[in-house]
Amino acid sequence: MDFTLTKEQQDIQQAAREFALGEFPERAQEFDRNETFDLDIWRKACELGFVGVFIDEKYGGAGLGYFEHCLITEEFWAVDAGIGNALVTTTFGSEIIGMFATEEQKEKYLPPLVKGEAIMGTAITEPDAGSDPAGATTTAIRDGDEYVINGSKMFATNGDIAKYMLVFCQTDPDNPDRHKRHSFFMVETDRAGFEANKLYGKLGIRANDTSELSLSNVRVPASNMVGEKGKGFKELMAFFNTTRLMVCAMAVGIARAALEESIAHIKKRHQFGAPLASFQINQFKIAEMAAKIRAARNLYYEAAWLADQGKIDHGLVAMAKYFSGEMAVKCADEALQMHGGYGYIDDYKVQRIYRDAKIVEIYEGTKEIEKIIVARSLLR
Ligand SMILES: Cc1cc2nc3c(=O)[nH]c(=O)nc-3n(C[C@H](O)[C@H](O)[C@H](O)COP(=O)(O)OP(=O)(O)OC[C@H]3O[C@@H](n4cnc5c(N)ncnc54)[C@H](O)[C@@H]3O)c2cc1C
Repeated sequence: MDFTLTKEQQDIQQAAREFALGEFPERAQEFDRNETFDLDIWRKACELGFVGVFIDEKYGGAGLGYFEHCLITEEFWAVDAGIGNALVTTTFGSEIIGMFATEEQKEKYLPPLVKGEAIMGTAITEPDAGSDPAGATTTAIRDGDEYVINGSKMFATNGDIAKYMLVFCQTDPDNPDRHKRHSFFMVETDRAGFEANKLYGKLGIRANDTSELSLSNVRVPASNMVGEKGKGFKELMAFFNTTRLMVCAMAVGIARAALEESIAHIKKRHQFGAPLASFQINQFKIAEMAAKIRAARNLYYEAAWLADQGKIDHGLVAMAKYFSGEMAVKCADEALQMHGGYGYIDDYKVQRIYRDAKIVEIYEGTKEIEKIIVARSLLR
């Protein structure tokens, strides 16, 4: 398979890199320390067309693929993961709208995301349902022309800043098949009974909002159901196949940053009268990092390319996700180690890289869950 990027893809990649280098470095430490973000950066990213490139042109997007979204994600994360995450997740859940919503819903919810008028999120995880989303117990009960939603959601990206959130709810709690109990609902965050509480003190990606949600008798019109009643779990799995690709690109981006910081440091820092780069142990480390980055990138390129051809390979996506996650965490660890004590201080970018990297082994399916999926696809 030939993964030579087209001229258009190379241009997108370069433009994303230039945008990130121009906007992120100056603010990254401030956002990380204060757990804040400046939405003007997001508005600029929207203006320049970096947000939601996979959204159909009919709804204001660029009509490109997940592949191009991944290219942008990798470049953003290679400069700063926190800001990168804040930007690439502003459309989080639009993939579900694109795949399963009605025409009317697409026209309503997609254009504001690319125009910089709205941020969205998707709330699946609950206090007692993480790796097992079929265990989610938030309910949506029909009442005339409305549904009444009750429950709690954990770790909702953008929960505190989103204009609307897709919420994964049980619509048929008694169905003997636990994979047929759920449906998605679009919930405008200004509806009575919706409350978001931002979670502070995250290890990394601190520029990006993560919230706990409480939904207490939130009423939404029945027309806010997105997708088919009872098919939510199946739709969720299709969604994960796209967002996991994005996480692979995040992992490759941050691992690149770890390698770049390492090379710069070991060339500059001298011990025992010689640069750290002259010691073979460090040479081996950067050689291994470079090889793993390339391998992870090839895995996600293949998986994303197949996805854009409509030939999604569930096992391959999971393989790319766990491999790139472990690779990124390992690279970040080695990078910090090569920085010695300086790496332990937050004035050094490598400290942030080390903290930011861990999330790629956790969200959108932990590495253990991804390995289970890979094994199942092999044993089937
Ligand atoms: C910063 C951040 C942002 C997030 N954003 C969102 C979001 O926008 N929307 C959303 O819905 N969720 C979001 N999440 C939640 C995330 O997807 C979950 O944290 C993740 O799926 C793991 O669930 P959990 O935290 O409940 O861990 P658990 O499911 O409790 O898992 C704990 C550990 O047990 C392991 N484990 C669990 N089951 C098995 C098994 N069967 N076999 C082997 N090992 C197992 C896991 O791999 C893990 O190591 C976010 C989380 C974070 C930290």
